[in-house]
Amino acid sequence: MRGDEARAEKLRAMTITPGQAGSARLEEVREPPRSEGAVLVRTLALGVCGTDREIAAGHYGSAPAGEQRLIIGHESLGTVEEAPDGSGFAHGDLLVGIVRRPDPVPCPACAAGEWDMCRNGRYTERGIKDRNGYGAERFRVEPEFAVKIDPALGALGVLLEPASIVAKAWEHITRIGERGAGWQPRTLLVTGAGPIGLLAALMGKQRGLDVHVFDRAKNGVKPTLVRDLGATYHADGPESIEHLTPDIIMECTAAPAVINFLLGRTAATGITCLTGVSNPGRTVALDIGRLNRSLVLDNDVVFGSVNANRRHYKSAADALARADRQWLGRLITRRVPLERWTEALEAHPDDIKVVIDVAQA
Ligand code: BGC
Repeated sequence: MRGDEARAEKLRAMTITPGQAGSARLEEVREPPRSEGAVLVRTLALGVCGTDREIAAGHYGSAPAGEQRLIIGHESLGTVEEAPDGSGFAHGDLLVGIVRRPDPVPCPACAAGEWDMCRNGRYTERGIKDRNGYGAERFRVEPEFAVKIDPALGALGVLLEPASIVAKAWEHITRIGERGAGWQPRTLLVTGAGPIGLLAALMGKQRGLDVHVFDRAKNGVKPTLVRDLGATYHADGPESIEHLTPDIIMECTAAPAVINFLLGRTAATGITCLTGVSNPGRTVALDIGRLNRSLVLDNDVVFGSVNANRRHYKSAADALARADRQWLGRLITRRVPLERWTEALEAHPDDIKVVIDVAQA
């Protein structure tokens, strides 16, 4: 079939009605409008993360203005079908779309290309907030919000978006650390051995740190992946990490009890980076006196980190290029075909990264 005939057809897309649990379905949608970008992409694969599950459960996400339905999917990988001359992309290139778009004001951060640091909250996000995502058989993207993937990385390019989140967190950790002279972190504790936690551990090893990973899973692929990285795995409850005084903690569970346990446990001038998004309304007893004392007397920093800008996609691509491909491939523990994409929203105990296969390369 010629390309333009195919283009007259409707496309299958992964849709959700935000705010409505159980509304996830495979639907036919129209060809993506040119207003979504000059580069036309054939979707190969989409990663699923906790945010997609939150949207599917009706807790998060919003459709484009005036619409009920949101095409989800923000961890993309596709191959270019059409790109204008001078766009930097050509037919057949592998590509990943950037998630966030700057707010329309724009705030000083968005104006400087740091939409990940948006100050007024009016940013939009593909597949999450006020903008359709990449979860259709074809999508369009603006060349300035697309990242070319090295063919050597191939299908593993679907890990670029989660890796960009971690690269941003690492960049900020480094900038915070360097506020004090002679900052030389040695120990990293990562809580949560999901995709973000494992990529955080990988980038910690790449920085030469002594890496410890804490998770609930006592067996399965997580402990093996951590050990194969040359890091130490802890799964015997909080007591198993009580002896550690890490210079850096990367919190990737968003579990209130874990966060409460961690706060104030770093070495002096320690940095705790929170990366998980939790739901409001979960309260725990917090010893704020102890916490305040330890943060103040030790010059500790606890900060949150979200999203990524173009610079972080680039450093994430560098980190993935330096990693063992076989190890990266083992992060993808389940693949689901597009027809059955809603199965990817179910959390299986042994899941790390679940990927929806949309087309063959
Ligand atoms: C995405 C980020 C996004 C965040 C908040 C995450 O799952 O990876 O790009 O900024 O959710 O919506």
